[in-house]
Amino acid sequence: MASPAAAAAWRELLTRAKAGEQVAVDRGVFPAGGTQAGERRGRNGHGGGNHHRETTEPEASVGFVLAPLRGPGREYLGAVLYEDVTELRGIGEMLLDVNRELRHLVRADPLTGLANRREYERLLRTEVARAARTRSPVSLLMIDVDEFKAFNDELGHQAGDRCLAAVAAALRSGLLRPADAIARYGGEEFVALLPGNDSSGARMLAERLRRAVERLAIPHPRSRAGSLVTVSVGVATVYPAPGYDGRQLQEAADRGLYLAKNGGRNQVRVVDGSGSVDRLPQSRTNPGAAEGS
Ligand code: GH3
Ligand code: MG
Ligand code: MG
Repeated sequence: MASPAAAAAWRELLTRAKAGEQVAVDRGVFPAGGTQAGERRGRNGHGGGNHHRETTEPEASVGFVLAPLRGPGREYLGAVLYEDVTELRGIGEMLLDVNRELRHLVRADPLTGLANRREYERLLRTEVARAARTRSPVSLLMIDVDEFKAFNDELGHQAGDRCLAAVAAALRSGLLRPADAIARYGGEEFVALLPGNDSSGARMLAERLRRAVERLAIPHPRSRAGSLVTVSVGVATVYPAPGYDGRQLQEAADRGLYLAKNGGRNQVRVVDGSGSVDRLPQSRTNPGAAEGS
């Protein structure tokens, strides 16, 4: 039979339902001894040496489910009562673990461990909206491995995968602030989202990431950009107005990336959040490139 606690909860639900309240699916789990689930942990928790202690309290927990069932013209109550859900409770805890793991998996890219595209898109929306509220800048870097098809063609897909994992790790360790986020956008493309970074800060970080990849010194057998694996980076910054669509920022960064590729790869190009060229980056810029103005 149900414990007193279960019976009381049960009665209360029935009363609420009879009073016309829309009782949706409701459920509860109670130990057979009568206290609420979760309040009786002490039994096994008291001192690790208590294995032999017998207790009069029964092991079983009682669970119930109450759900309204609609019949023609009137409403009936339908109910399922579980006498022993001790095992189910264990399964419930396991499902919570699985759920946590799944939540991580849907956000992460399996090869690199970075945030995946879906998570990045969520972050982009959040950070652009936050920047609009706080009137602060947000910068975006689009990072693409140079001549990666040739790398794969020469060394094989597995070597390509290892290379991508190494590049991802270098990019991640190159970030400076806790709020900075890096994600695998897809294939050999990565994005770094830099809340609070203005254009010059973002350019410095982009340059830092570009160098971090170069410093991995992974030989590239056939790249027009040199003898090592390198990346090109497009940088865009915006002080978003309310309602600004983050995709514009991304298109702008993409345009920077396009300029970097056209300029000879292994370099950083900066545009503003509307996609027009912000200012010529120093150092690794390519002085000859037409800036598409
Ligand atoms: P560019 O310098 O213009 O970026 O040239 P690219 O060869 O890097 O660009 P392209 O888009 O032509 O080729 C990208 C290649 O990246 C195609 C594919 O072979 C490789 N690639 C994409 N995703 C993966 C992956 O997950 N693993 C491996 N090994 N290769 C990948
Ligand atoms: Mg690409
Ligand atoms: Mg590429």
